[in-house]
This record gives sequence, structure tokens and C-alpha cells, in this order.
Amino acid sequence: MPTPFPFRVLIVGNGVAGSSCALELRRLRPDAHITLVADETPHHYSRPALMYLYTGQLRPADIKPHADDLWTQQRIELVQNRAVGLDPTARLLHLADGPALPYDALLLATGSVSRRPACPGQDLTGVQTFYNLTDVVQMQQLTQGISRGVVAGGGLVGIELAEMLHSRRIATTLLIRDGHYWAGVLPPAEAALVAQQLVENKIDAHYHSEIAEILGDANGRVRAVRTTAGTELACQWVGLAVGVQPNLSLTAPGLATDQGYLVDNRLQTNLPGVFAAGDCAQLRTPGAGQVAIEQLWYTGRAQGQTVAHTIAGQASDYQRGPWFNSAKFFHLEYQTYGQAPAAPDGAGRTSAFWQHATGRHGLRLYFETDVPHKLLGVNALGLRLRHDICDAWLRAAAPLAQVLAEWPRAAFDPEFARQHHAALRASFAVWLD
Ligand SMILES: Cc1cc2nc3c(=O)[nH]c(=O)nc-3n(C[C@H](O)[C@H](O)[C@H](O)COP(=O)(O)OP(=O)(O)OC[C@H]3O[C@@H](n4cnc5c(N)ncnc54)[C@H](O)[C@@H]3O)c2cc1C
Repeated sequence: MPTPFPFRVLIVGNGVAGSSCALELRRLRPDAHITLVADETPHHYSRPALMYLYTGQLRPADIKPHADDLWTQQRIELVQNRAVGLDPTARLLHLADGPALPYDALLLATGSVSRRPACPGQDLTGVQTFYNLTDVVQMQQLTQGISRGVVAGGGLVGIELAEMLHSRRIATTLLIRDGHYWAGVLPPAEAALVAQQLVENKIDAHYHSEIAEILGDANGRVRAVRTTAGTELACQWVGLAVGVQPNLSLTAPGLATDQGYLVDNRLQTNLPGVFAAGDCAQLRTPGAGQVAIEQLWYTGRAQGQTVAHTIAGQASDYQRGPWFNSAKFFHLEYQTYGQAPAAPDGAGRTSAFWQHATGRHGLRLYFETDVPHKLLGVNALGLRLRHDICDAWLRAAAPLAQVLAEWPRAAFDPEFARQHHAALRASFAVWLD
């Protein structure tokens, strides 16, 4: 890295990874010249909160984590423009409009783009993906006054779109490719609790079903979907939520990519002074239990901050600690910690599940089969657990007996936890020595 400061740091993208890097770097180095190049909004906003704009629970101002003059306050220059190319030899970033920007260090924080299924009819009016503010506005316009929508995708964004349509009383069909919801992530028992939410909220879920073709009317507007199961579903709007992939649209000669921009443990690409963080980055050698591409809010923030430390001359490896994610499926809260695979993933590991009779609460603990059954992961549905306690259990590889004994401490609702503590312990009794 060039020294001494000040030097010119360019950050492409003001999502959580880019913004966190800019703010952390400013904190560490008051003398750095920091420029954010952003092609979306001038301010940073919470992408996970987008759905609540549509449902009317939040206003645009509510999803901005910072004051509008944050960049000015922090002496971070904002260039609202699209970066279109990188010259690593001259260390220049080319923009869609205006002169190229020189850099000493550059962060690619370009996020993801929505995947599209391979089916005809995607250009029809009324068909869209869902990733940014523009998509919220488009969905508001396209679903105005309609009666039926179809959502393709049995993952997090798919169920969000179903909930959004439901909030406007639009009859909704959810097409799920696998035999149960989010089959790559959730074991069948957890997915069954989500399925109950779908039934209670009158979402017509079709399993083993994908879009084969989207059919249009004479005006080029969607009128129906034909599924791979051969069913034709009349609708006036189609949401495509079949996942995202790293946004690699910004390219450079010699820049190594695979599915994402390839980075080492310090999130450095193969080009000198060029880093990548957030959804667009792919770790070359992910550690045990790590995935190469992490598409989460909190990991994007942690990666951005890690790059800031390296640029500031305090290089450190990216270490996110135990995995954590949370979501809400209609009224069912979901949290997952550590290694919590959908199916058993190797010898010496197992899991057990406790479920409340109402089908509204469930807890799965993953642990080693050998005594003392060290904790490996947790899935909690309809139960809010304290992050600090679950994280500490996983870091310490706490024995199952300790986790079960301490369970009420981890629950946000101690009354519920105390009431069901005996039943929970009984579900795991066979593993308690
Ligand atoms: C609907 C939805 C719900 C989600 N819910 C959750 C959740 O509940 N929990 C969770 O952990 N995660 C959730 N995520 C994922 C999470 O939002 C992402 O992991 C996170 O926002 C990625 O941050 P990022 O900074 O890497 O990228 P982004 O937030 O995508 O930011 C990248 C920015 O860079 C800009 N950009 C790209 N290319 C250029 C260029 N060439 N020039 C200038 N600017 C450019 C983009 O326009 C964008 O503004 C959700 C995502 C979506 C879409």
C-alpha cells in the first residue's frame, strides 16, 4: 500500500459494504481522500427493509440509517455516476460520464444482480425482479389494481414478495422448485412451520414447480404463467425471485473472477491496491464452515470494515465468527447460528428438533455425536434468541447439556422459555448423559 497518507481511496458502491468501508476508513484515517462512486441513490439505505415500503409499514426516510449530509460531515466525496472500467496500470477508474478518477486504493463493492430463470416471456409488462428502490416503485405501479400474482422462488425474497402481495390482498401463488420451502437451507421440519404460515396467509404454494413460460396478451402484458408441472395460472404480475449473483459488470484487464471477484483473506484481489467486499466478493480459500460468497447484510458490513483497516495500514484477515442470519416468514421469526445445514453433512454430527404443539415455535440444535456433544449450530423459529449468548456457546463449543441448562437465558421471552424448558430438555433427553 502507498504510504504515507493522504492518498486517494475510491469505493464503487454505497451499499452496506462500500459505506461501512468509507466510514470506518474515515474513523481510522482523518487524512484519507475518500470518494464514493454510486450509481443508485446518493444516500445509503437498508436493502432488507425494502419490502416494508411496499407494505406501507415504513416510509423512504425510515430505511436510511444515516443523516442526508453524512458524506459531507465525514468529508467523503460522493460521485453519482456509473463506473464502467478500470485501468489497473494507470490506476484509473473510468466513469460513464466525465473524466476518469485516479486511485491509490480501490474497493469494488458492487453488490449483486438478480438471477433470471431460463423461460420465455420475461420481457412482458408485469414481469420483474426485486433488488432495489426502483424495483419497489415498479412493483407499486405494476400491481396497482390487479387481483392475482405469481411469485417464482422458494427462498427469502420469494416469500417476501408473497407477503407484499398479500398485504394488498392480491391472491398469490408461490412456485417452489423443491419439495419443501428453502430446501437448500431449511430441514423439512422447519420448512413445515413455514408452510403452515403460507397456508394460514392463503398463499397458494406449488411445490416441485417452476415457471416454464410466461404468457402475454395482445398488449404485451402478462396474462398467465405455465408451470413445469403443466398448470396454467392466470395472473397480471409475475415476480422472479430465483436468487442473486455477484455483480461483475465492472471489469478490468487481468482482474481474476470466478462467480465473484476473487479475493484473498484480506479481501484483496489479484490487482495491486484493488479490493472487493460484500455480495460481489468471492473468497479464494474459505475457512471451515465458511461459504465463498456471503450475501448478507452483516457480513457485507464486516467485510467493508476489514478492507478499511487494511487500507489504513492495519491489515487484518477477514474473520466473521460464527454464521448468523435472521428473517421473518410472515409471522414466524427465524434465526440461524453456526453450522445448521438442511441435511446431515458428515459423520460425527447430528441434530435434534423440538417443536411446540401449535407449530409456531421450533428449535433445532446441531451438535457432535461424541460426548460431550459440542454445539455446532442452532435454528430457531418463532423464538427470538440472544445473539451474544448463542455466539458465545458456538465460540466455546459448549456441550449440549450446558446449552439446554442455560436455554432460558438465551430466549428473549423468559416466561415462554421457562414454561417449555422441561419439554425441550425431554426432546434431547436421549443425548443427555
Ligand atoms: C429484497 C432483499 C432482502 C434482503 N434481506 C436480507 C436480510 O433480511 N438479511 C440479510 O442479511 N441480507 C438481506 N439481503 C441481502 C443484503 O441486502 C445484501 O447482502 C447486502 O445489501 C449487500 O450489500 P453490498 O454493499 O455488497 O451490495 P449492494 O447493497 O447491492 O450495494 C451495491 C451498490 O453498488 C452500486 N453499483 C454497482 N455497480 C456499480 C458501478 N459500476 N458504479 C457505481 N455504482 C455501482 C449498486 O447500484 C448498489 O447501490 C436482502 C437483499 C434483498 C435484495
